[in-house]
Amino acid sequence: MASTRRTFLAQAAAIAGTLGIGSRWNQAWSHPANWGSKPGPAKEGTAVMTSTWNHGMLANDAGFQALDEGGSALDMIEAGARLVEADAEGLSVGIGGLPDRDGHVTLDACIMDHLGDAGSVCFVQNVAHPISLARNVMDRTPHVMLAGAGAEQYARELGMPVTPLLTEQARLAWERWRETSNYQPVINIENHDTIGLLAMDDQGRLAGGCTTSGVAYKMHGRVGDSPIIGAGLYVDGAIGGATATGLGEAVMRTVGSFLVVELMRQGASAQEACFEAVQRIIRSMPTEDLQVGYLALGRDGQVGGHAIHGGFNYALHQRTSADTPIESALIDASHGEH
Ligand code: ASP
Repeated sequence: MASTRRTFLAQAAAIAGTLGIGSRWNQAWSHPANWGSKPGPAKEGTAVMTSTWNHGMLANDAGFQALDEGGSALDMIEAGARLVEADAEGLSVGIGGLPDRDGHVTLDACIMDHLGDAGSVCFVQNVAHPISLARNVMDRTPHVMLAGAGAEQYARELGMPVTPLLTEQARLAWERWRETSNYQPVINIENHDTIGLLAMDDQGRLAGGCTTSGVAYKMHGRVGDSPIIGAGLYVDGAIGGATATGLGEAVMRTVGSFLVVELMRQGASAQEACFEAVQRIIRSMPTEDLQVGYLALGRDGQVGGHAIHGGFNYALHQRTSADTPIESALIDASHGEH
């Protein structure tokens, strides 16, 4: 999937133009004086789903299908994430994800709803659908986060399939990497495509999710931003949601998704908030070799995305009224090149 991402960018830019996205790039985004007012109320019958990278297109399709079958925003998120987790060709999420330096595929995921309920699993192995495990943590336990062997044990208790996730393709890539073992904790945007998903259903309920195999060839035990509530994902039902992709260490240090939502609370649009959260990283650490992209969905259905460097895109599906068809677009959010 990653290899085809760039081919979409030109087309995406054109679609973004028709949707009115990315048209205010020259404004001084980071100055609060230029922010509008915080998101207004959601409109009935206007569902939206947005997800990172190319695989977000299929994830959003699955999400809208879940909605049309009577599901909620949370169901949209889980359905979209599961679809991408099940793709054994994807090297960054679920089965087929690239392993850590010791050859173990370890997964991180979280989910959050408009009420502030959240569930998360991290450093979990052999569980094909960590997003569903995270949802069970949220729905059925008194906890927010389960890690490692305990998370896997809980998956077994729930009767979830527990199966090795290292595919032949990923194993061969790991073997090739081991010839040099050149470990750099740097995101190469061509092969680290965490999926972050944000949705609003027809009742205006918001939800979000994030699922990943994390940075390839990471140290065994390393956990990134993706399962951390406030870092890889944050949802506030009264304001909006945000999710992150890229080098988790930079996102965690700046509590990125929480920051995006708090900026929206203070009056920034989804786009302005993502821009400002990216500036926060740029101001606080060297960023030549690291990529972070943020995606946000306001309670009013506004969507924004921004990244440190070019190459970041996201998929957007929206239904503008109860009886219009779903519009689908892949948006180039690579304006962040600096
Ligand atoms: N954010 C993820 C992590 O640091 C990686 C990614 O987005 O690809 O684990």
